Amino acid sequence: MMSIKAIKVAVIGCGISGAVCASTLAKNGISVTVFDSGRGPGGRMSQRREIAEDGRELLFDHGAPYFTVSNHEVLGLVQEWESSGIVAPWNEKFGSFDFSSKKFLNLEEEEAPTQKYVGVPGMNSICHALSAEPGVTSRFAQSVARVEWLASEDSWSLTGINGEDLGQFEGVVACDRNCFFSRFANAAGSPTPFDLSMEPELASQLKDITDISCYTVMLAFEQPLTSIPIKGISFKNSEILSSAYCDSSKPWRSDSSEMWVLHSTVKYAEDIIVQCGLRRPSIAMLSKVAEELLQELQRTGLHIPRPFFLKAHGWGSAFPSKTTAAQEKCLWNGNKRQAICGDFCVSLNVEGAILSGLAAASKFTELISSNNS
Ligand SMILES: Cc1cc2nc3c(=O)[nH]c(=O)nc-3n(C[C@H](O)[C@H](O)[C@H](O)COP(=O)(O)OP(=O)(O)OC[C@H]3O[C@@H](n4cnc5c(N)ncnc54)[C@H](O)[C@@H]3O)c2cc1C
Repeated sequence: MMSIKAIKVAVIGCGISGAVCASTLAKNGISVTVFDSGRGPGGRMSQRREIAEDGRELLFDHGAPYFTVSNHEVLGLVQEWESSGIVAPWNEKFGSFDFSSKKFLNLEEEEAPTQKYVGVPGMNSICHALSAEPGVTSRFAQSVARVEWLASEDSWSLTGINGEDLGQFEGVVACDRNCFFSRFANAAGSPTPFDLSMEPELASQLKDITDISCYTVMLAFEQPLTSIPIKGISFKNSEILSSAYCDSSKPWRSDSSEMWVLHSTVKYAEDIIVQCGLRRPSIAMLSKVAEELLQELQRTGLHIPRPFFLKAHGWGSAFPSKTTAAQEKCLWNGNKRQAICGDFCVSLNVEGAILSGLAAASKFTELISSNNS
């Protein structure tokens, strides 16, 4: 009989939910290995490194631009991260721009805006720091292709995309809905890591959640855009542009050029996906997206010169369409020591993903303390 004290847990996904879960497990003395298909941690809080034609390095937060916090437990964690220098408040002015009137709206209204936080020096810094904590083994550029429950051994077996054995673990945490369902994986004919036909209850909780897509466009200008009086803009009455953020105005970013990230509307992103037929967008399609979002920004009538760097990125699964475990904050199968966490459990943002990662970790610590008592 396995000793529950010596439990080894695999965490699949090192976005913020997986990173928080792994770090919390390790702090509680549980052996944890986190796997991510990405070259580094962060998931939708990643930072993208680009090199301009003249060789300049450009770093963009091309996923979540910032996050806010309302839950006191998450606030406590964020304050710890602030003290250790991986999070800072972003205190710039935000507002809206209306394409119908071609005017900024409510610029003076936000007397006490919700505090916005960013990872420093990049949005991925939090996941970087948590996945490097003592007790956490991290394996990046390592997709988990298959996760199987071995009833005879009372453990999970993980296999990589080239059939490599990634080890056996007494517990598993899946931190991405795409581990179970992916319109992109299915379109390419490849199976998802978990076989949901073996877990009908789980399948029913996850099946109605679909993906909401978004395109982001990264731009760098030689000079500050002085015609824009704010650093975060939410656009009204545009079918193409939803928001824009001045990355270089965040704390601890390089100010050698003025860097912005534009976010498309959901409708625009869906139209592009229809045109691509669920295939990855081609370079030509990404260039078209970059030009269209830039042209829309220029349609504001503000003085927007040609950037010296311009590139689009597609987020096929930017946001889940709804949440599935707002009360429990994660899904849990105690018999198999299997947790599922991520923003799709609690709320569609960084704070929801943090809460879900904490909840998944607490399922394991509760299990261990109940076995020890
Ligand atoms: C464009 C955009 C704008 C956003 N704006 C905001 C905002 O303003 N404020 C806010 O709070 N939130 C925002 N969000 C949402 C926020 O980024 C997410 O809610 C949060 O980062 C989700 O974290 P997560 O850990 O649940 O998932 P993810 O960050 O998606 O992490 C899942 C990880 O699992 C990995 N993975 C998946 N399958 C496998 C596998 N088989 N093997 C190995 N690894 C695997 C993935 O590579 C990924 O790294 C935005 C997101 C996007 C894309």
